[in-house]
Amino acid sequence: VYILGIESSCDETSVAVLRGNKMLSNVICTQEVHANYGGVVPELASRAHMKNIVPVVDEALKKAGINKEELSAIAFTRGPGLMGALLVGVSFAKSLALGLDIPLIEVNHMEAHILAHFIEMEGRSIPECPFICLTVSGGHTQIVKVNSPLSFEILGETLDDAAGEAFDKGAKLMGLPYPGGPHIDKQAREGNPLKYEFTKPSVPGYNYSFSGLKTALLYFLEDGMKQNPNFIQEHINDICASYQHVIVDYLLDKVKAVLKAENINRLAIAGGVSANSYLRNALKSLAEENGMELYIPEFQFCTDNGAMIAMAGYFKYQNKIFSNQAVTPKNRMALQK
Ligand code: ATP
Ligand code: MG
Ligand code: FE
Repeated sequence: VYILGIESSCDETSVAVLRGNKMLSNVICTQEVHANYGGVVPELASRAHMKNIVPVVDEALKKAGINKEELSAIAFTRGPGLMGALLVGVSFAKSLALGLDIPLIEVNHMEAHILAHFIEMEGRSIPECPFICLTVSGGHTQIVKVNSPLSFEILGETLDDAAGEAFDKGAKLMGLPYPGGPHIDKQAREGNPLKYEFTKPSVPGYNYSFSGLKTALLYFLEDGMKQNPNFIQEHINDICASYQHVIVDYLLDKVKAVLKAENINRLAIAGGVSANSYLRNALKSLAEENGMELYIPEFQFCTDNGAMIAMAGYFKYQNKIFSNQAVTPKNRMALQK
């Protein structure tokens, strides 16, 4: 079985081919235009997807070494995401499936981030269900109980900003380029995470709130600049390390509580922020202390990619869960129960 996966929900045009659960290709074209604006500009994202989609599909097929006539099904991101961006991938997927007369499979982007863990890779084990997944991305922060690859339960989520936004907005305040997550990660490696203290937001249950943290950072930076106009430049490593520390520590608090309450010792992380080295190390220590099974995605599966869409599509293919030509994108979309 060959599944083509198309991802176009935000600022990555990405297409992959899987044979069963083995990856044959995963072409990721990250749109550079947005860096100039300090955030994703929806209209520019749609235009870039239109320009990229045909060459990226061609390259994914070529790298996989197959012709499009050999494909078994087309999987695509239906949502959540930017409407105009999704529309490009959805329309392309529909046309291709119609032209080839093969099944069309809609995929939820947030489920796909999690299901990337099921792509078979040498030296990597696949989590057994049920397990807990902390999904931390540019638009979402969720603690999900994965009952099966087709059944998900959100146990907690952010009430406002996502963890990725806390990174990106914080980075912007410090004058770092967009997207700021990787820049904070890099600067923080040379800094002291306990130098400055930021208070963790308090929200009931397993939910999160991140919007207060960036405000706290803003006031902290303003205060520092009053004393010394070069405060940020001189202390950037310690500020990044301390700000990153509070985000990661806060993420872990709730995850630990969920693992305990659910009595599950398998934890996975997913989404762009799962590339963060401080988060990865903190989780590795936690896993060692508690004898927990930890699943950390390869870097290529952290941020948006077509392979995770094809993988999610493969599970639906096996269960014959198909869409028809009437399908439309959804900018908000719940996980399947
Ligand atoms: P969603 O999946 O919620 O629709 P998205 O697709 O835009 O949102 P992803 O592509 O999964 O999000 O992740 C992008 C986010 O990951 C950005 O906020 C980026 O700053 C963050 N990120 C990437 N690498 C790192 C890192 N090393 N440390 C912290 N954050 C990171
Ligand atoms: Mg992105
Ligand atoms: Fe994403």
